[in-house]
Amino acid sequence: MKTRRDLIREEMGLTPIWRLRAPGAGAAATIEPTAVSSPQSPVPNLRSPVSSPGSQASSPESPVSSPQSPVPVPDDRRAAIMSMDWAELKARVASCVDCPLHAKRTKTVFGVGDEHAEWLFVGEGPGAEEDAKGEPFVGQAGRLLDNMLPAIGLKRGSGVYIANCVKCRPPGNRNPEPGEALQCEPYLHRQIELIRPKLIVALGKVAAANLLATDASVASMRGRVHQYRGTPLIVTYHPAYLLRNLPDKAKAWEDLCFAVRVMRDLQARASAPI
Ligand code: URA
Repeated sequence: MKTRRDLIREEMGLTPIWRLRAPGAGAAATIEPTAVSSPQSPVPNLRSPVSSPGSQASSPESPVSSPQSPVPVPDDRRAAIMSMDWAELKARVASCVDCPLHAKRTKTVFGVGDEHAEWLFVGEGPGAEEDAKGEPFVGQAGRLLDNMLPAIGLKRGSGVYIANCVKCRPPGNRNPEPGEALQCEPYLHRQIELIRPKLIVALGKVAAANLLATDASVASMRGRVHQYRGTPLIVTYHPAYLLRNLPDKAKAWEDLCFAVRVMRDLQARASAPI
């Protein structure tokens, strides 16, 4: 009889069915920091300019979007954000006017989930539905993400936090400009400090590019453990990209299985006697 997980994998287009190995049944993932090159290069535009809500991240290899040099975040602003607790940070984001994205937003999209989560999933930025609701990944891409999580034993809100690189919707579902992502980066940085996740999963090239300061392709970053300021990070495809590139769902499933092995290894290390 088909289990719920089997049905979810079928829903993701992941047949033949693959199963997670039990802890210890396979080789442990190697968790070594991976140096990633090209600090602060501009982020390629992954979103189609007028795509439908939740349909961003259309291609992992699209051309570069913005030539301007981003204005650095003032030290005092960064320091203030880095000292905030959850309530202060949420209020600060809700009233933020530090980049032009604030002008057209309906709601800021702070992030959602377990504030002590072991897993942190990071996307690009809100689409139309997220902008209307104030919650990340509630459109079509979010529905796929919500189907992927139970396939590896996770659920939105329980042991999982979901956030974006930018908290306001880029108009027309374009990519966030490097300057917009830069101004928003202290918020995500502080969220990560407060959550202290064991593992970050960067969803798509824009998230990986912003978190790792690289313009490497998703394909070249998959299957390795990177580091964001000392927190292990893996890279996989954005759910919106997967909706348009169905054959790559199998690769996303491989990435999720890899992430589970990495997490088990991290948990085992954390509980090992010193
Ligand atoms: N795509 C993202 O990257 N984030 C969302 O919240 C929604 C769609």
